Amino acid sequence: MIKLHDKYFKPYLSETEILSAVKDLADKIAIDYKDEVPIFVGVLNGAFMFVSDFLKSYPHPCEVSFVKMSSYGGLTSTGIVETLLDVSEDIEDRSVIVLEDIIDTGRTLQELIHMFSNINVKEFKIASLFYKSEIYNGEYTIDYVGIEIPNKFIVGYGLDYNELGRNLKEVYQLNQKHMINLVLFGKPGAGKGTQAQFLKDQYNLEHISTGDLFRFNMKNDTDLGKLAKSYIDNGDLVPDEVTIKMLEDAVDKNPDASGFIFDGFPRTTAQAEALDKFLATKNMKIDATIALEADDEILIQRLLERGKVSGRSDDQDEDKIRNRFDEYNQKTAPLKDFYEAQGKFHRVNGIGAIDEITMRLGKVIEEL
Ligand code: AMP
Repeated sequence: MIKLHDKYFKPYLSETEILSAVKDLADKIAIDYKDEVPIFVGVLNGAFMFVSDFLKSYPHPCEVSFVKMSSYGGLTSTGIVETLLDVSEDIEDRSVIVLEDIIDTGRTLQELIHMFSNINVKEFKIASLFYKSEIYNGEYTIDYVGIEIPNKFIVGYGLDYNELGRNLKEVYQLNQKHMINLVLFGKPGAGKGTQAQFLKDQYNLEHISTGDLFRFNMKNDTDLGKLAKSYIDNGDLVPDEVTIKMLEDAVDKNPDASGFIFDGFPRTTAQAEALDKFLATKNMKIDATIALEADDEILIQRLLERGKVSGRSDDQDEDKIRNRFDEYNQKTAPLKDFYEAQGKFHRVNGIGAIDEITMRLGKVIEEL
């Protein structure tokens, strides 16, 4: 067992197993390209070790270059920020074989394909040392695969966990400790944010509130904030694709978390489905959805009181509050069935003293 940052990893693939897979890949590709000089393009950072051993096993003349890809956390798309392509000649009419260390969902791969789609290469192929076929959801069929692996987080042989572990000769697999991921469910004003503050300390969880994230963006006048403002001011839901992307980015920013409290998300069936799918790619899941229940009339009074203090535009006008309840009844309430079908739905009485309610929530969590 080794420890990188806060996590433990156990041995998974030995150096011999890896090198033999690399050699097999090189042999296969050598047969297909023996009559020409292909250009191998390594994808940094993870593929540097694979590319090095691959080239040592490749028996014919070839060129090598690298690309470095990284996604920016913008709203609309992810893009390539750095391209270090440096080949001796024009790559038009040459065969390009991309060397990837690992392909999982296929997101990076999609960007790579997009990048090369503008260049008229003779042939474009992808070789990946590791391949998580279970979660790959791209359309492109991977041309050369070294080793198919299950959907477990791995490090070593170029692959990192927060930059550590790249120098290991072997590959290690995450030794998973138990994680708790909760959805706090309920109408506006039910006390989700208040309770999350207590639960997050008690169970060492990251609290992600989509409402807070939107308000933070509005305060800082970001593109996302500008986009969300009109919806929020009217008490309407922000469109799913925007909210889902923002939530995924927030989870990605916390790779070390021992669990999450999702507060105010999901609010639509599309969001709930996206959340399940996204968590599955990380080997995570929702453990429980806990609904804080309270009467509309009590909630309206609470929200109007809160509006006086917080200055939130959507908490000061009864019509807007009622609109938020309508949005909840139409779009969010059906999620009860969604989570009930998964056996994860729990109800808690949201009326009472704050600490009493925290205790009710704690009781549900302890029994998970
Ligand atoms: P909240 O603070 O959770 O009450 O959220 C305030 C407002 O932010 C909501 O009325 C929506 O306009 C927007 N919002 C927050 N979370 C979501 C979500 N999951 N989906 C769509 N809109 C959201």
